[in-house]
Amino acid sequence: MTVVIAGAGIGGLTLALSLHQVGIDCVVYESVDEIKPLGVGINVLPHAVRELTELGLQQRLSQTAIETAELVYFSKHGKLIWSEPRGKRAGYNWPQFSIHRGQLQMLLLAATQERLGHDAVRMGYHLKDWEQSGSKLTVTFTDRAGTVIKDTVASDCLIAADGIHSVARAKLYPDEGPPAWDGAILWRGVTVAKPLLTGATMAMVGHEFQKFVTYPISTETDDPETSLINWIAELKFEQNYNWHREDWNRGGNLADFLPAFENWRFDWLDIPELVRNAEHVFEYPMVDRDPLQRWTHGAMTLLGDAAHPMYPIGSNGASQAILDARTLTREFQKHGVNEAALAAYEDERRPATAKIVAGNRAGGPDEVLDVIENRAPEGFDDINAIAPLKERKEIADRYKALAGFDKDTLNDRPSIVATA
Ligand SMILES: Cc1cc2nc3c(=O)[nH]c(=O)nc-3n(C[C@H](O)[C@H](O)[C@H](O)COP(=O)(O)OP(=O)(O)OC[C@H]3O[C@@H](n4cnc5c(N)ncnc54)[C@H](O)[C@@H]3O)c2cc1C
Repeated sequence: MTVVIAGAGIGGLTLALSLHQVGIDCVVYESVDEIKPLGVGINVLPHAVRELTELGLQQRLSQTAIETAELVYFSKHGKLIWSEPRGKRAGYNWPQFSIHRGQLQMLLLAATQERLGHDAVRMGYHLKDWEQSGSKLTVTFTDRAGTVIKDTVASDCLIAADGIHSVARAKLYPDEGPPAWDGAILWRGVTVAKPLLTGATMAMVGHEFQKFVTYPISTETDDPETSLINWIAELKFEQNYNWHREDWNRGGNLADFLPAFENWRFDWLDIPELVRNAEHVFEYPMVDRDPLQRWTHGAMTLLGDAAHPMYPIGSNGASQAILDARTLTREFQKHGVNEAALAAYEDERRPATAKIVAGNRAGGPDEVLDVIENRAPEGFDDINAIAPLKERKEIADRYKALAGFDKDTLNDRPSIVATA
């Protein structure tokens, strides 16, 4: 066997599909016994949709996802600050998709199993350790508890796509400690409701200290007038606030955040009503990690959140994991499955993603909300008197260039992975 991938998340599965596309053998080892459609909404930006399209998945995506039509920013008083078309409406050759994270993972899993065979994804195998001798690796997998060895596997390369709690990263950097918290807590949920504005609008409301984000992620509901609406309510606290460690599946309580949003009722969106009608609420702290100096150690490297966990701002977590997978595939094509390929992958992706981690810490594209809040906390009649159009556009364009989805650059560049 050549490539061992640890983690069947968005990054690991995209890598498996990509390697298969160019004829490189791989097997994915996933820690959980069964992959369930967990999480809430995420966005896949046009540069990542291009990659999934080139993997032949755009039609499947469009069957379950919403093609995001526009991104709009509103003040805490519900007044429009900025709006821009998204995806094809903005002139990209590829759409932007808002999708349930679990549905995206299930879609990638189904495609991987269809194309590579059912055994290509082994569930219940938790990456525990690896050793390198010469150019070969021996990788050890245990049960999820880490107590029973399930297999030791010979491999030419190990790709650790094992998420924000990466075992591989902890082995390489044992003193790193837990992810860093920036003071914000995100309460996340999905509600069946009528979609707002265009029906495919992604809306951001508020400012750094209190924000609400919402967008539809599916039309698969019983009532054709409704959609599944994803939402995130965000509050910022003092550093001594008693927050809970990051766990994507931790439940949340309305009482901890809803009172702060009680007056956020606008004629185009009733936030308290949307929140109250959610079936489940999850709580997640805004955490990331400092960029690493090195991802690649011998014949292994890190990918996706294991390599560069970032604040979920600007819709980049899944998109950057997809770009990692495609870039690594291109380098394997070019150099063969060896350390030179890993080095070339890291040379491109580590600085690119470090910039996004830093950009997200500075607010990413949401910076426009803070500019307006700081200048006009009591509200405004004319947005142009607070920040001219040029300034607001510059903020939006800057982030697109930083995150690698400037329209002309993306439309004009060749594919990352060359296929026959
Ligand atoms: C259950 C879950 C829910 C999520 N929900 C959201 C959400 O609602 N919104 C959002 O923005 N992001 C969410 N994320 C994170 C999001 O998927 C990632 O930020 C992004 O897609 C990058 O993907 P990734 O493949 O690097 O990591 P992930 O998608 O996190 O995938 C990592 C995979 O590795 C597996 N794994 C972990 N440890 C090991 C190990 N030692 N050996 C083998 N496998 C291992 C995990 O079970 C998981 O399947 C969620 C992640 C998970 C795991």
